[in-house]
Amino acid sequence: MESQEQEQGAPHRENLEPVGDVLKRLPTKNTSEASHQVSGQEAIEAQEEYSCPICRDYHFVHPPCEDGVPDYSRTVPCSCVREIWAEKKRLAMLRMCELPKKAQG
Ligand SMILES: [Zn+2]
Repeated sequence: MESQEQEQGAPHRENLEPVGDVLKRLPTKNTSEASHQVSGQEAIEAQEEYSCPICRDYHFVHPPCEDGVPDYSRTVPCSCVREIWAEKKRLAMLRMCELPKKAQG
């Protein structure tokens, strides 16, 4: 039994040396993993900062095709922009209507 324990102990001592190399590699792995985690958190925070999560403040979205896949060759104004454009059109229409009155007045 004792002879077997000594034989088992020898390989363990040999394995202790490579651990130093593993410890040297750990910091690099930790930093890489940390950077990935940080980037992921930044992406989530960025999505929350968008005033419109649909178009991500691009004000344009790709309309879905009949297959349901977004058609990247086309771009349509987002619903959030349509509301703004509708208001601008109303204001433009009001100006068009007001101008003649002021001209006549
Ligand atoms: Zn939008």
